[in-house]
Amino acid sequence: MAWTPPQLRKKYNNMSPLTATTLREWDRFHKEQGFDRELSPVFLLDSFYGLIPSLNMASWSSRGLIYLHQLFDQGEVIPFRQLQNTYHLPNAAAFAHRQIHSWLQKNKKVLPAGDRWGTFTELESLCTQTKRPLKLISTLYNHHHRALDPHTLQFVKAWEAELGRQLTKEQWSHILYENKKLTLSTAHLELARKVLYRWYLVPTRLKHMIPKSTGLCWRCNKAQGTMLHIWWDCLVLTPLWTDTQALIKNTTGVALAHTPEHFLLQYMPPHHTKTSRYLMYHIILAVLLQISKHWQKQTTPSIQSCITHIETIKGYEIMARSNNPPQKLWKKAWEKWDTYQQKTVKP
Ligand SMILES: [Zn+2]
Repeated sequence: MAWTPPQLRKKYNNMSPLTATTLREWDRFHKEQGFDRELSPVFLLDSFYGLIPSLNMASWSSRGLIYLHQLFDQGEVIPFRQLQNTYHLPNAAAFAHRQIHSWLQKNKKVLPAGDRWGTFTELESLCTQTKRPLKLISTLYNHHHRALDPHTLQFVKAWEAELGRQLTKEQWSHILYENKKLTLSTAHLELARKVLYRWYLVPTRLKHMIPKSTGLCWRCNKAQGTMLHIWWDCLVLTPLWTDTQALIKNTTGVALAHTPEHFLLQYMPPHHTKTSRYLMYHIILAVLLQISKHWQKQTTPSIQSCITHIETIKGYEIMARSNNPPQKLWKKAWEKWDTYQQKTVKP
């Protein structure tokens, strides 16, 4: 069904949400590539069952005739006799061949352009491999990420509008795909994603739902409570973020610029060591978590409460990673953290 262009697909009323979402993403991806309205050269011939009534291709796939491109030569449908010789089809297959041929004649509009027959996209090549490639899911994800322009994502557009500047595709790619490898905790990852995807109901969003509300920040009661203001810009929060910046400098040695890209969206420049990025990520996560715990309160968390939280994260991380194959980086990171903490503990 996925390979069938959306305009030709049957309507299914009781499709599961997961299938519907997958299909929607699939279509969006193909639309971006400009291939959403046509058949793919690797369109599965079996999918014709959904398009042509009383079709019988029972013997085709077992004889190796699987994809649309196998039916074509120089943009023309191969005559049945020639196909029969190549794939040893029974005579009875001639009828199905005629049905498909006539369908294709009627629907010339959906045939791939001439240059598409010989060159498959990376995804099409992957889907036609007879042997299942190793790490298939990761390969597909990576392929999808590479092909997708983050600037088409709604939350990316919204962040850039609030920031008043654009981040590069590489920066977004780091924010979206690299950071998640740094933590094992789904709860922490969830929080980071909720901030990134702008899940929180900040005052300016509530204003749309409750007309009487002012949309002002609940802390300073002066500025509009946008996503950026509530998490970053609010002057009441500034001391906390300044302390966080100092904490990062003291533990990792990295002087991270005081910008929302780094602290709020967690863009950790790739030229820093992975140990530093790992520690910075956890420090920032702890601060974000503490801010979320003070939601709609006028008080703000202290850096000390964030440090206590980092200690908890450290405990979980060490426990979870101790069973994993040896990974020196997290050990080194927490050693750095401990060294700094021991220095600062008052006698
Ligand atoms: Zn404020």
